[in-house]
Amino acid sequence: MESHHKAVHADDRRECMGEKHPFDLGAYEQRVKEGPCFICELVAGSNPHHLIYEDQTAVVFLNKYSVLYGYTLVAPREHREQATGDFTLQEYLQLQRLIYLVAEALRQVVPTERLYILTLGSQQGNRHVHWHLAPLPPGVPYQQQQTAALDLKRGVLAIPEDEMASLARSIRQTMERLNPSSALPPSN
Ligand SMILES: [Zn+2]
Repeated sequence: MESHHKAVHADDRRECMGEKHPFDLGAYEQRVKEGPCFICELVAGSNPHHLIYEDQTAVVFLNKYSVLYGYTLVAPREHREQATGDFTLQEYLQLQRLIYLVAEALRQVVPTERLYILTLGSQQGNRHVHWHLAPLPPGVPYQQQQTAALDLKRGVLAIPEDEMASLARSIRQTMERLNPSSALPPSN
């Protein structure tokens, strides 16, 4: 019953939030459980996403299923599954450094009242570990914040491809501005 819910009313207040479209949760679940690893596919170049940044160890890209505007994912290039268990402390901290930079860039590019950072995943699907960076815009009522704001059942934003591309570019440019000393490879 919940799955037929369309949009969060608070969306209407924010132009940048756009409209939410119903999300086919069943098809998504099947793809996640039975399809190939979407992050390994992305790294191999066979699953196009709006890439924000990549280096030898990590990829940063916009979530295709954005429930919030600017919803970004950060993942190791290698297929690893356990958020801490599959990393040395050094590797983990290196990834968290990148997450910090992406998060600070996001806060500048997208109106953000609160930035959510979390890692989920499942051994039954979505095994490749990744971190969600989801900016909650100002003005969302309390009941629609936190896990409610991340619920795919409420639909996903219909953001045009060109807007996704320019959003990815803005986040990338802001990362470079915030951290000019880091050796970021050229953006494409
Ligand atoms: Zn993978």
